[in-house]
Amino acid sequence: MEKIVISRKNIFAFCLMLVTWGLLATGCATIPSYVGGAVTFSPSDYVGVESFCKKHGFQYSFDTIDDLIRLYSSDKEIKILLNSFVGAINGSIFYLKVPPVYRKGKILIPRQLDKFVSSRTLSSFRPTFVIKTIVIDPGHGGRDPGAISPRGLEEKTINLMVAKYLKEELEGRGFKVILTRLRDVFISLDERVRIARRHHADFFISLHSNSNRSRNVDGVEIYHLPASRLNSRERALRLAKSEDFSGRELPTNVKAILWDLIISKNYAFSVEMSNIMYFTFKNLGFNVRPPKKASFHVLRLAYVPSILVEMGYLSNAYEEKALRKKYYQRQIAQAVSLAISSLNKRYAKGRKTRYANLNW
Ligand SMILES: [Zn+2]
Repeated sequence: MEKIVISRKNIFAFCLMLVTWGLLATGCATIPSYVGGAVTFSPSDYVGVESFCKKHGFQYSFDTIDDLIRLYSSDKEIKILLNSFVGAINGSIFYLKVPPVYRKGKILIPRQLDKFVSSRTLSSFRPTFVIKTIVIDPGHGGRDPGAISPRGLEEKTINLMVAKYLKEELEGRGFKVILTRLRDVFISLDERVRIARRHHADFFISLHSNSNRSRNVDGVEIYHLPASRLNSRERALRLAKSEDFSGRELPTNVKAILWDLIISKNYAFSVEMSNIMYFTFKNLGFNVRPPKKASFHVLRLAYVPSILVEMGYLSNAYEEKALRKKYYQRQIAQAVSLAISSLNKRYAKGRKTRYANLNW
């Protein structure tokens, strides 16, 4: 079974493979069969979806609008499309020799998938990420100062200073780093997101400093998007209708499954990054709260794994004093950089992470 890891960078190659596959499989130069062209049907290649689910302890759902079949259990999720050779298991793409089909009121699943699910290889399917390019987003800037401390310290200044330290730290660890702003200038939220996309960022981190009416509130806070804002099929379909992959024209349902994969993988990664960030800060002695979910604009539209770090409260006298200090700014940058590189190392080694399944 062939498996590739999907990222924005290899989508083009993936699409080419899809097209090639379609052409090879049908011998037809005009309509690749993954978009629903003629498929030679041989009953021995197939098993009914009900008996498939019974055998493997799966449940299934079928969306007639975009022909998506979802087979799922407590720890596995398979997504396949009717008449399509592409599918995904727990976020990793695989190819089928024959596509799922609909015959005489029944959904038929390729036997190849039956064997595949029975084999042990399935448990090894898990998302893989390698971070190379990181976009750091120092929040606010220019006419937008962000939060202002009682002593007049502006958030935009702290955010930028830590961002510059973080850039140094991450570059020292071999990452390619881009800042959304290098100076005290105003940049719209949309532009920050565009920068991440333009540079094909593997990870986007927005840096902020907090404020609260109560001066007692303190601590570092880490945010990622709630699943409901990301992990939705409607969103994938919407993206599929408006976005192309490297300028290639692909059928909407194929694009939807690609977006769905990217969105789910980005979500899984963002959660994991938030968790490891939290533990790193905690282990280094910071006052940090467990990761939270919030639908910040910069996280929502980045299309890349993203988190937002509130580095402390400017409204709290103790933290404000610390945030003014260069050594403290440097310490925050070191904590963030350590978390990013340790998660990256874990993925590079392909090991399961201890924090992957934490629920907050
Ligand atoms: Zn802010």
